[in-house]
Amino acid sequence: MVKLQCGSELIFRVAIAIPVNRLFDYLAPEQFETSKIKPGIRLEVPFGKTNKIAFLVECVQHSDIDSAKLKRVERILDEKPLLSTKDLALLHWASRYYHHPLGEVFSAAFPVALRKGKAAVIQTEKRYVLTESGKAMDSELLTRAPKQQSVLENFQAHPTSWSETELSAWNKNWRPSVKHLLDKALLQLAPSEFKVQARLSVTKNNALICNLQQQAAIDSVCDSLGQFGVFLLEGVTGSGKTEVYMQIIRAVLERGQQVLVLLPEITLTPQLEQRFRQRFNVNLAISHSKLTDRQRATAWLGMQRGECAILLGTRSALFTPIKNPGLIILDEEHDASFKQQEGFRFSARDVAVVRGKQLAIPVLLGSATPALESLHNVDKKRYRLLHLPDRAGNAMEPVLQLLDIRNKKMQEGLSEFLLADIRRTLAKNEQVLLFLNRRGFAPTLICHGCGWVARCGHCDANLVIHYDEGLLRCHHCGHEQRLIKQCPACKAEELTALGLGTERVEKVLAEIFPEKKIVRLDRDSTQRKGSLENYLQQINQGAVDIILGTQMLAKGHHFPNVTLVAILDVDSGLFSIDFHAPEKLAQMIVQVSGRAGRADKPGRVIMQTRQPDHPLLTTLIAQGYSSFARTALAERKEASLPPFSYQALLRVQAMDAEMPRLFLEAVAQLARELSKGHTHILGPVAAPMARRAGFYRYQLLFQSSRRPELHALLDALMPQIEKLKQVKKVRWSLDVDPVDLY
Ligand code: ADP
Ligand code: ZN
Ligand code: ZN
Repeated sequence: MVKLQCGSELIFRVAIAIPVNRLFDYLAPEQFETSKIKPGIRLEVPFGKTNKIAFLVECVQHSDIDSAKLKRVERILDEKPLLSTKDLALLHWASRYYHHPLGEVFSAAFPVALRKGKAAVIQTEKRYVLTESGKAMDSELLTRAPKQQSVLENFQAHPTSWSETELSAWNKNWRPSVKHLLDKALLQLAPSEFKVQARLSVTKNNALICNLQQQAAIDSVCDSLGQFGVFLLEGVTGSGKTEVYMQIIRAVLERGQQVLVLLPEITLTPQLEQRFRQRFNVNLAISHSKLTDRQRATAWLGMQRGECAILLGTRSALFTPIKNPGLIILDEEHDASFKQQEGFRFSARDVAVVRGKQLAIPVLLGSATPALESLHNVDKKRYRLLHLPDRAGNAMEPVLQLLDIRNKKMQEGLSEFLLADIRRTLAKNEQVLLFLNRRGFAPTLICHGCGWVARCGHCDANLVIHYDEGLLRCHHCGHEQRLIKQCPACKAEELTALGLGTERVEKVLAEIFPEKKIVRLDRDSTQRKGSLENYLQQINQGAVDIILGTQMLAKGHHFPNVTLVAILDVDSGLFSIDFHAPEKLAQMIVQVSGRAGRADKPGRVIMQTRQPDHPLLTTLIAQGYSSFARTALAERKEASLPPFSYQALLRVQAMDAEMPRLFLEAVAQLARELSKGHTHILGPVAAPMARRAGFYRYQLLFQSSRRPELHALLDALMPQIEKLKQVKKVRWSLDVDPVDLY
């Protein structure tokens, strides 16, 4: 930081969250204390017609822009930076590595409330507790005020403090009764629980007795606390990975350090939260996109100040500042949700490893089906493998079976053999789980008379039939129209639904098993807030016989009474053009299978296929995921595909059909001039979905056997791209280490 000389005008160089890869210069504010001006503080600056929040990158004494034209910083928002020097360095690194504007990277690190310039103070909710007389009060005395009586009884039944949110979740109309009880001095405001804890207390201990492999995994990680190291915990589903996490977390907490735990999905947080709360008596923070801005800011600041011991969050929680970091855990590390697919396209797994290195703490990656990249990193001795080959406790691994359905009689995607098996399972009062990765009623509406197909007018895609809502809907752009009965081309009333979606299977199941309770879990059926939690609860209480759903089911959920799992259409995953597809399919099969027989009863998995000899399926079944992964890695090596090479994908779209290709041809030309020869420039080619939401799409792939060389090329190329004359007529984005090529 440059010392301020009296009289000279200091320039604040700032990052602003706009999609332009440059920094902006401002004159110093009218008044400020030099000692408080540190990189990372938030500022309010005039920008265009409004004010924006900016992040100070550095102070300099000279700007290339004439100082008469520079505007002045209006306000300094932070007394001191909320991010540490190491975290700032991480953001700079991420911005360079992903070639993403620094302002947007900074912005991604902050919760929305702070991005908008809110003060960095923890706004705790009011909480209420019983007074001594409230505890002693006989609730029967309130019979004439039944609402107050029920509030009092509720507090007496759960004698902790209740927050406003918790009360609202319990009963929306709690306010008047609570007010009366406050007036009667039966309730009082609780002192804020969010006070600084000098030491994180970890008193509860109900740890399980670990088996040898679990203990070995725990010991390996615990031996490296306080230093960097990456561990890949490969444990079959139900092998007790969570128990391993919890025992390592305990060791970290006992050192007075904090833990960051990342999960791929919001829906998995409640389960893990509950297990952590039963185990640890510490402040636990939760962060995901369904929480309010205030809740997220509170979690973020709680970690930043060292008041929370554990943060449980999704991808975006990765950048949360941690006062006293001790460990980062990524559960289900193979999951593609850890890669952000728009805007700042970072991989939470890869950045977590960089962050761990910077903070000198261990990073623990866990999965039953590790990503091929991670296994490759084990081979290269960058990660250490910890293996849990068996299920914990009494649970046995499920038996996988291929069911050849060629020439078999089918009822809406269900073979007779499978139906018989479902019947037998239900007769034993056990649950059945059916997996079909396609929502809606059917993916195609076709005219039997003339062959007309309902297509989306904006995308290269068919409209999906949503029968219950009476709609045709595009799953790519969201376009909707009324479901029609008559063919618009030949006017015949012979429109046929082709193919299978979850809605269709649900209907036929309801006909075949009218007395059974069926629950469908997909994005359509779980849109209402709380509905997924509600379904999951019903399933776990045994109130559901058949669970039918999409990939939502494949992730981490624990259904102890499911003993039969069926994958209705495994073939649809076999023929993708993306080289990642076999890996994703194998992971999906193993993860879905993992939902079977997780408790005392053995589980079975049936996969309906017309490709019973397909090597992916036969390897997976006969030899398991590890063997599949070995084979798949060998194939990638043979073809010089990642992780044996490094890729970046430049995606371009425009309303004009020609412009994306013309633009990318110019980029490819530039790239070939700049390339030192080891980086292949593949394309431009039309995107697999060449038109989407009205935009024509093209892409250009860069691939190199040497990462530094790829990045050197991108470093040189990106600033040049912005100068191309077509750049104003297209939208483009760069995806470094893309996980899908769409
Ligand atoms: P994973 O995270 O690998 O899928 P979990 O940690 O959820 O597995 O464990 C699966 C089940 O096995 C849980 O019910 C857990 O309580 C139980 N379990 C884990 N470790 C042990 C152990 N050492 N002894 C007995 N049961 C265990
Ligand atoms: Zn027709
Ligand atoms: Zn569309």
